[in-house]
Amino acid sequence: MASFALLALPLAAQQHKATQAEVDRITRDAILIDTHDDVTSRTVEGYDIATPNKSGQTDLARMNGFLGAEFFAVYVGPEYVNGNHSANRALQMIDTVRTDIIAAYPNDFVFATTASDIVRAHNQHKIAALMGIEGGHAIEDSLRLLRDYYALGVRYMTLTHFNTNNWADSQGDIDKPGIAHHNGLTSFGKDVVREMNRLGMMVDISHTADKTFWDALETSSAPIIASHSGCRAVSSYTRNMTDEMVKALAAKGGVVQISFGCDFLSQRYFDGATPLQASMRDQYMAATLKIEDPAAKSAAIEKLRAEFTSKVPPATLADVVAQIDHAVKVGGVDHVGIGTDFDGVGCVPPDLDSYNKFPALTRALLEKGYSAEDIKKIYGGNLLRVMRAVEQRARELRSTPAIQSDIAKK
Ligand SMILES: [Zn+2]
Repeated sequence: MASFALLALPLAAQQHKATQAEVDRITRDAILIDTHDDVTSRTVEGYDIATPNKSGQTDLARMNGFLGAEFFAVYVGPEYVNGNHSANRALQMIDTVRTDIIAAYPNDFVFATTASDIVRAHNQHKIAALMGIEGGHAIEDSLRLLRDYYALGVRYMTLTHFNTNNWADSQGDIDKPGIAHHNGLTSFGKDVVREMNRLGMMVDISHTADKTFWDALETSSAPIIASHSGCRAVSSYTRNMTDEMVKALAAKGGVVQISFGCDFLSQRYFDGATPLQASMRDQYMAATLKIEDPAAKSAAIEKLRAEFTSKVPPATLADVVAQIDHAVKVGGVDHVGIGTDFDGVGCVPPDLDSYNKFPALTRALLEKGYSAEDIKKIYGGNLLRVMRAVEQRARELRSTPAIQSDIAKK
């Protein structure tokens, strides 16, 4: 009779009974791949990743255990465009991954550039360390630099950051006056996408304007990714994607990697935080610029942070589940993944603010009716499939000559 009773239970209720050991095993067996982590902005300034990261989310102690692969962000801020320092910054960021992270901790990290490398690292119980450039201005309008970055190990590039560059429009400044826009990608921008296809570098449309997304999707002959985004139907933040975009990305085999930034996750947070950030900006600037004593300064900032949080509580793990679930309903379970944006956003869910808390997400997804196989796909299987497709397309294109255009020549 007991077995009949169990059969009568809905699937979600059965999964709910998973023991902690089972939940941990599912989480560990899945190759958890995070496609966006900004701890590199700290390591490049001297932060040692093996020490506790008290104000952020990423450190060695919390990466070890459940994380299979990390795409470290080679983030090049828009400010480096002035005076042409973008390539310099990109090279410094690449070096911090290779020197301060991989070479410094060889027992924990292994340099990786392919899907096979990631699987091999997982079998060796090491974290595969990969790189993605954030901000297409890093190539300084030259496909030669793009090829150099590929040679150094970069395996995706976000076509823009918050700034429109010389060949692609960004979502971040699309409605700001005084900025020359291109209506998506220029012809050189399309050459960038084609050369990325030829090299085997994933095209990332997070941060781009919607029209840039559509142009990139049409131009690319390989699946493309959103390395850290979400669904606009869940939170209207324009960094997120419309359902039409998610559907079209999925139809071409790509994957949307869900960001854990509170404003990406939750409409409630986005609606509350946006006006409050604006109204508290002056107080924050006064605390950071006018107070000289370091202890008094951090106390003032901490007080402002507490005030902010009391007025607008952070998003939660349940919001992450809701974003994943919506993306799955729209794009399918084969087209959703994880791109935390840890150490790159001001607010993440406190109940999912590090890699060692992922078993809680696994349990929540099981309770929602997701199978262990579904969870494996979302955590990394889908991204591995895209990487293999991008690698295969590059092999097919390898006999074609490198594209030689650049903006200066045109
Ligand atoms: Zn970003």
